[in-house]
Amino acid sequence: MNIVLSEFLSYCFGVRRTLNMVNKLLAARQKGNYYMLGEIVHNEHVIADLKQKGLKIINQPEQVRDKGTVIIQSHGTSLQAIRLLKSRGIPFIDATCPMVKIIHQHIRDLEEAGYYPVVIGKKGHDEVEGIVGQVREALIVGEVSDVTAKKFKGLTRVGVVIQSTFIREKALSIRDEIRKWVADIKLINTICDPTISRQQEIREKAGQYDCILIIGSCSSANTNHLYQLARKEKDCVYLIDSPAKIGSIALPDRGSIFIASGASTPEYLIDEIISLLEKRMISNT
Ligand code: SF4
Repeated sequence: MNIVLSEFLSYCFGVRRTLNMVNKLLAARQKGNYYMLGEIVHNEHVIADLKQKGLKIINQPEQVRDKGTVIIQSHGTSLQAIRLLKSRGIPFIDATCPMVKIIHQHIRDLEEAGYYPVVIGKKGHDEVEGIVGQVREALIVGEVSDVTAKKFKGLTRVGVVIQSTFIREKALSIRDEIRKWVADIKLINTICDPTISRQQEIREKAGQYDCILIIGSCSSANTNHLYQLARKEKDCVYLIDSPAKIGSIALPDRGSIFIASGASTPEYLIDEIISLLEKRMISNT
């Protein structure tokens, strides 16, 4: 079996930037707690490591009951949460990915220009909730079937942004569905560059290899999207989140395997999995 690695393994620049910030803060900590509003990235291994270094994960600013500092994670947060932090005098550090900040600006601009805000993305995802929280109100659509008369009938102008890690083809199908109800639609494609590159690579490579292995957490949106794109091309596609799972999947003994990862997968996990695969190859020869 021949192993071929993706050009884009491990963290995207946004996740790397946020993790560097948090690790530096935790290393320099003398007194006072650091709290993170939501999970910095959707990866259990990364979260466990940061918790072990002293980071406390909270869901609401109200949960800070000492003189701690709140770190806003890479997916960003709502204006309401920021206001609450300010009104309570809770110090905070904004580690939101710059690409997400751009989406925040776009949706505010669209609302100001008179467009009704629509977010194409997964309801309940931290990033999507943070984007919606930039404007007075907004619709969230994650599937073509979410575009219903009940939601869209009567709207004359809608301004659409897209969750940074969404699948482009799916977003365009949703846009086309919205067009059936709304004549004036302004869509700003806010899928981020690292997502575009990773998804494009999977589209191109999935058909060229016998099996595709995606390393990342099942709770990570971008990882799941890579899996879905690869599955369109072939059946032999696996998503695994830890080296312990490698023994339970049926990889081919011959041929080639392409390895990609989500944007929140630590490098050491990928290295461990590759090393296990290499051992398996040696024992099969
Ligand atoms: S996936 Fe894109 S938006 Fe999300 S952290 Fe990475 S660069 Fe930023």
